[in-house]
Amino acid sequence: MDTHVARSQAIEEEAALLDAIDKWLNRDVRPHVLRLEHADEYPHEMVEQMKELGLFGATIAPEYGGLGLSATTYAKIVERIAEVWMSLSGIFNSHLIMAACVSRMGTEAQKAEWLPKFATGEIRGGLALTEPDCGTDLQAIRTRARRDGDHYIINGTKTWISNGIQGSCFALLVKTDPEAQPRHKGMSMFLAPKGAGFTVSKKLEKLGYKGIDSAELVFDDYRVPADYLIGGEEGRGLQTALGGLELGRINVAARGVGLASAALKDSVKYSQIRKTMGKPICQHQAIQLKLGEMATRVQAARLLTYDAARAYDAGERCDMEAGMAKYYASEAAVENSLEAMRIHGGYGYSKEYHVERYYRDAPLMCIGEGTNEIQRMIIAKQLIERFPA
Ligand SMILES: Cc1cc2nc3c(=O)[nH]c(=O)nc-3n(C[C@H](O)[C@H](O)[C@H](O)COP(=O)(O)OP(=O)(O)OC[C@H]3O[C@@H](n4cnc5c(N)ncnc54)[C@H](O)[C@@H]3O)c2cc1C
Repeated sequence: MDTHVARSQAIEEEAALLDAIDKWLNRDVRPHVLRLEHADEYPHEMVEQMKELGLFGATIAPEYGGLGLSATTYAKIVERIAEVWMSLSGIFNSHLIMAACVSRMGTEAQKAEWLPKFATGEIRGGLALTEPDCGTDLQAIRTRARRDGDHYIINGTKTWISNGIQGSCFALLVKTDPEAQPRHKGMSMFLAPKGAGFTVSKKLEKLGYKGIDSAELVFDDYRVPADYLIGGEEGRGLQTALGGLELGRINVAARGVGLASAALKDSVKYSQIRKTMGKPICQHQAIQLKLGEMATRVQAARLLTYDAARAYDAGERCDMEAGMAKYYASEAAVENSLEAMRIHGGYGYSKEYHVERYYRDAPLMCIGEGTNEIQRMIIAKQLIERFPA
């Protein structure tokens, strides 16, 4: 097939998929968001629909049963879903990062065994990196795996793990050699299905990101076969985790775009309906200034996100681009959600509207997948590396 035909086919396929996602969101998700959000209820029915849409295999290669989507198409899907209910994107995003760890670093046997089950959603899960004493400084983790014949025995605690209760398998970052220097050489990543010695010790209560479960996980003499070590070789755990996080940052950026855009769309609509001093508030210049800034932020965040996704798809190094997109889009979500609340006045503070949810959900995007402090440091380090004096 020539490249022109292949390209127009890819555009058509993307349009059909995005259309299916929009229809699903409008028909099966939007009407239920307020109820599920305020009940903090896991959306079991929507998860079944997400399986049918293929979302649990969105970025998994077709030979393993996935949709094999580009990061660009994936970002567009995440943006749409986050615009309606950001929590839903968390159910398949960290699952796909676990899958990316296997796709990028796993052995052929591991890919053949695990990826088809991840793609259908038969096995769902996420990424278990953070511990009670460390998140940013991952090399300080204390969860330990000791070799015991053809098994490893794992002890330690992970916290804040998305899908921790509803998920059944996690990509688990451990120390296989706590004395190693540099520290990352003693780190490894395992596939950790739930079983004896693996317990969910706590459901964590949160400001926002309702509906999706965040949990503390305890590993107490938890045994896994040695062939669950991703890549089959010790010492590559940090590399495996950080590789998956590039896609993770693009997806957090896309969530930021979705939230910032939802705050804008609600504000554009409300400001035409709400009247003060005899005219719709959108005719007051003070409100117009806010709308103008909000719209510009959405567009800038979207372009940065698509640029990072393009670089990822082209196989280019994109930690700077993904960092910029994640940083800017998450801050845009925070600013737009606050501005939307101001525009909505008292109704912005009401649980009958979606705006207070955007305001609670947006700050998480500044923390997850590497805090925004760290993103700016990554950007600066890359600048210095790319432009030496
Ligand atoms: C709802 C939710 C879901 C989550 N889901 C997951 C999940 O699925 N899996 C998972 O593994 N983790 C998850 N996390 C954890 C998240 O990734 C961490 O909270 C995040 O990485 C920050 O780590 P920390 O909370 O330990 O903060 P810390 O690392 O203690 O940082 C505290 C502050 O210090 C700053 N800081 C730290 N180091 C530096 C430095 N060198 N220079 C400058 N500033 C610095 C940080 O930017 C931050 O402002 C989740 C968290 C939340 C809240």
